[in-house]
Amino acid sequence: MKVKTRFAPSPTGDLHIGSIRTALYSWLFARRYNGKFILRIEDTDCERSKSLSVQSILKGLKWLGLNWDEGPYFQTQRLDRYKELIEIMLNTGNAYKCYCSQKEIEKQRFKQISEGKKPRYTRVCRNLKIKHVSKKYVVRFKNPTSGKVTFEDKIRGKIIFDNIELDDLIIQRSNGIPTYNFCVVVDDLDMNITHVIRGEDHINNTPRQINILKSLNAQIPIYAHVSMILNENGKKFSKRDNSENIIAYYKKGFLPEALINYIIRLGWSHGDQEIFSFSELKKLFNLDSINKSSSSFSIKKLLWLNKYYINNLPVNHIANVLKDYMKNENINIEKGPNLKFLLNLYKHRFHTLQDMVSSFRLFYEEFESFDLQSADEYLISNNIYILKKIFNRIKNLSFWKIEMLTEVINNQATTLNIDLKKINMLLRVVLTGKKYSPNISSVMFLLGKEKTLLRLKKAIIFIKNKIYIQS
Ligand SMILES: [Zn+2]
Repeated sequence: MKVKTRFAPSPTGDLHIGSIRTALYSWLFARRYNGKFILRIEDTDCERSKSLSVQSILKGLKWLGLNWDEGPYFQTQRLDRYKELIEIMLNTGNAYKCYCSQKEIEKQRFKQISEGKKPRYTRVCRNLKIKHVSKKYVVRFKNPTSGKVTFEDKIRGKIIFDNIELDDLIIQRSNGIPTYNFCVVVDDLDMNITHVIRGEDHINNTPRQINILKSLNAQIPIYAHVSMILNENGKKFSKRDNSENIIAYYKKGFLPEALINYIIRLGWSHGDQEIFSFSELKKLFNLDSINKSSSSFSIKKLLWLNKYYINNLPVNHIANVLKDYMKNENINIEKGPNLKFLLNLYKHRFHTLQDMVSSFRLFYEEFESFDLQSADEYLISNNIYILKKIFNRIKNLSFWKIEMLTEVINNQATTLNIDLKKINMLLRVVLTGKKYSPNISSVMFLLGKEKTLLRLKKAIIFIKNKIYIQS
């Protein structure tokens, strides 16, 4: 049996952590067994489906490297096939037309509730002899009225439903459009899906889908229902919770390698191992090790992993990815040091690429203003002479090396009898605008002579102007 899995999102919004996880599990399972992974867009819910969402789904999957072997299939392009099967089911007696109006259904419902019964369709049209040719109708599946539906869930074990609990499901609406559960069944059948890996919110659909598959004499796939992911507060992610939107993680500067590694571990484990490469996962992944209980999202853990990958992936790779982020922020990397150089010196300081972009900006363009508090503390008249001395020393340097710059600073501290820490702080404010920066001689080195002198000059002018305004 050739393994075939599918990822079948509805294009009603962006891709979220939870849906990416089922995509990832399905993708890995197919890869593990040299099977196929299919992408299917479940867009029959026309009103809510948006082409923008489709684009966002494709973009997200591509970014994460979850390539598909077939598709994307669109359910709205398969309507003829669904209609064909509904026709067959009507002819074989596995489905029937229900002429009850919305009003009548509500009346039945109201009566059942007032009698203390569970509301459900009363099946009045199931054995109708007369055909109402002109009346509007829906098509219902003739669900068995006795017996049980049993399936062996790969994650949760045996699950049993009594047929008596299941309604005669509507498979075609009065407007002629087939319903969600029916399209899923036909697609899984036509696409020869062997393993359905999806969220636990689909468990209740499964017995209905199995019954329809049986009525079509189809092979029943193996099901695996993945538990939900809770947010940081231990609650279910809400639709408005933008913190789980995949594209947002891209924008924040997370690496796909980190996100994949993080998401796989939300419910799957292999001993105590924390870090997994793609090629390792393709060999190790199995459905049996997926946890039955829900898992909790932790941004702290994800940041830790992202930092790990920033520091452990080849620097060439990180530099290439970072280039795009710099470009998105309109930073011209031609106007400053080589990115690989910066990365080698500073990458251990950052959790995300976006943080890196914010910090690296100062090497490529002039910063707009000094941090107010730092300026108050360090850009004062007493410090003008220190800056002038350093300016002259640097201006006369014939070589541009980190060691020489360190020596200049150390020398000035000794000759002017000033605490070295104080000089370092002063230079940080002058050259970067704020008190926090990496080692100051390497900052100078990366800025280059021209930019360093320019910023020293700007700081001196800034202080003079301040004195002028105050007096
Ligand atoms: Zn009816």
